[in-house]
Amino acid sequence: MQSLRALPALRDNYIWMLADAASGGALVVDPGEARPVLRALEQDGLALTAILLTHHHADHIGGASELAERFPDAAILAPHDHRIALDARRVGHGDRVEIPAPAARFEVLEVHGHTRSHIAYYGEGMLFCGDTLFSLGCGRMFEGTPAEMLASLDRLASLPGNTMVCCGHEYTLANAAFALTVDPENRALHARTETARSLRAHGEPTLPARLDDERAANPFLRVEAIADNRIPWPQAGTPSHRRVDRFAALRQAKDHFQA
Ligand code: ZN
Ligand code: FE
Repeated sequence: MQSLRALPALRDNYIWMLADAASGGALVVDPGEARPVLRALEQDGLALTAILLTHHHADHIGGASELAERFPDAAILAPHDHRIALDARRVGHGDRVEIPAPAARFEVLEVHGHTRSHIAYYGEGMLFCGDTLFSLGCGRMFEGTPAEMLASLDRLASLPGNTMVCCGHEYTLANAAFALTVDPENRALHARTETARSLRAHGEPTLPARLDDERAANPFLRVEAIADNRIPWPQAGTPSHRRVDRFAALRQAKDHFQA
């Protein structure tokens, strides 16, 4: 029986841990710090077998070297990027990775945009997508173009609807505040916001999210459905029907949005 946990880390990061009590093995995704992982492993009597990294930002890799020291047999999987200075197996689009314990297979998806080497891991009904797709939002484009980011989101959105989306941050309510300004009549968005509010009120993560819920509620996955007059166009009065222009306008407005 496998169990999936979101370990809160740093300010609002989640380190995802997939564990299998029978084998005693656990893998983690994006350990921004080591301490929450070590604590969880100790609590449950587990050994770390693999560390999966999505991108080079410190809040996603900061704990990896300490974990690798404590668990020298753990496999480290990372994108091709010299800014991740670890002895890792480098993986790219279409690569398949197999973890023995917990028994799990993942496919690597290239999802550039937040950074130029960002990858995601998809398998076992789970998607570990780092800072590319968030619930009701998406990552900032630090090193990519709107076209690249949109292509990455399209790739993720095409996975099966029952996929559990495991994002790198607890941003759902902040994202909801913006989403409601551009898509105020969307009932799925209101429903998701209510669920997220009640989870947070009980101190629970709002994640994983179901992919089909995101497709219905996340404005960045439905740019064609947002009303023209709700999109904050950079130059007034120039609505565009190109998806990439609509996406770029939404993403830029979100960058400057204050709830
Ligand atoms: Zn990041
Ligand atoms: Fe991050």
